[in-house]
Amino acid sequence: MSSRNRRTGTNAHRQTGRRTGSHHGHSRRDRKYWEQVHRIRRTIYGAAAILILVVIIAVSMSISHAKRSSNALKEATVYTADLAKETVSELNSISLDTEPTPEPTPTPDPTIDPANYDGKIVYLTFDDGPGPYTQQLLDTLAKYNVRATFFTTSHDPNWQALMQAEFAAGHTVAVHTYTHDYATIYASDTAYWEDFDMQRANVESVTGQPVHFFRFPGGASNTVSANYCSGIMTTLAQESVEKGLVYVDWNVSSGDASGDATKESVIDNILTQVEYYDQSVVLCHDTKDYTVEAMDTIIPQLQAQGYTFLPYSDKSELVQHGIAN
Ligand SMILES: [Zn+2]
Repeated sequence: MSSRNRRTGTNAHRQTGRRTGSHHGHSRRDRKYWEQVHRIRRTIYGAAAILILVVIIAVSMSISHAKRSSNALKEATVYTADLAKETVSELNSISLDTEPTPEPTPTPDPTIDPANYDGKIVYLTFDDGPGPYTQQLLDTLAKYNVRATFFTTSHDPNWQALMQAEFAAGHTVAVHTYTHDYATIYASDTAYWEDFDMQRANVESVTGQPVHFFRFPGGASNTVSANYCSGIMTTLAQESVEKGLVYVDWNVSSGDASGDATKESVIDNILTQVEYYDQSVVLCHDTKDYTVEAMDTIIPQLQAQGYTFLPYSDKSELVQHGIAN
């Protein structure tokens, strides 16, 4: 029992002693432990500081890289945009260069083909102008939405502006003559074409299109020309074909060139004669005030009867007189 106690005591002591020894050892080992802890902590703190530093460096590096990247991206975008602009402007300049020059005037109404048209057609043709009544005529034609044909001269000082107005309104602008002096133009074929070419140049300077149609002063059937040159009309008719030109005469005359012509006679002549033709080519002069005034009666009356007014074109019926000289 005592030995047991002792043993127990010993045990207890041992236990206590171990505990005490433990305490002794503890303070020594504890220092070591804390030293270790501090060392570990320092290591950890150091590592953490290094880690934080690395992270900061990495982040700042990635930011500056991103900035550089974004700058580079911006530069690339600007460059691409510039390139796109250049390409677009190049494309524009190319398309502008290849774009055809627009026609300055409309062609005859494409919905009506005179060659395949059941209704009656009237071609109002006006010779010897432009003149002082041409603008009034253009206003009347515009009022009724009618397009006509002008066989022109260059007598009027304002011929250019008036011819431009004719052309801009969609009328056919053709050549009549430059001087309209029979003795000059019918002296020889050379003389005729010299005069013709001067007027052709004036017309083409306005229309920008090659002249195709013309009308002989006095018509192809005139015999006045025989006073100056025998057979001149035969020669000129042949030569016009060789030049690719087409002369146009008339099958209806307003009679406005005669000395006793009036607005009423012009109205009567035209209204009675157009009944005979499917396609009437009407001779008028816009240098006569009564002829221009007559249009304000003739046009609405014929429109009410179903007539169609067209400018003369290569689809129109070819009206040519027989040559008499
Ligand atoms: Zn004439």
